[in-house]
Amino acid sequence: MQCSRCGVRVSAGALECPQCQLPLKAHGHPGVSVSMAPGGEILCPTCAYHHDGSCTFPDYPEATRCTLYRDTRARPPQVQPGKALPRWNNRWNFPALLGLLFLGSLLLTLLR
Ligand code: SF4
Ligand SMILES: [Zn+2]
Repeated sequence: MQCSRCGVRVSAGALECPQCQLPLKAHGHPGVSVSMAPGGEILCPTCAYHHDGSCTFPDYPEATRCTLYRDTRARPPQVQPGKALPRWNNRWNFPALLGLLFLGSLLLTLLR
């Protein structure tokens, strides 16, 4: 991750930039990132909430810093072939377990 003001590399959990002290998290909380356009540009024209008309922030449509900014130019994450299988497994673990229990019960009933 890079500081949007001075360009220095900062860790993802840093509360502020170690070089220019730009706050990188809102309310001093490591889980709330603040987006800031480089050079004081306005974020809203490239934000997904501007494009779908759902933004209700008071700084809209001229926010230069925002905790909800979602860049419409960001590419969606690429799914790697090797990583697709664990996601499928996670999603279908519970139904597969139920199916196995049902089949096991059915087998036990039939073999009595
Ligand atoms: S969420 Fe923030 S950046 Fe996005 S349109 Fe609203 S104020 Fe602008
Ligand atoms: Zn900085």
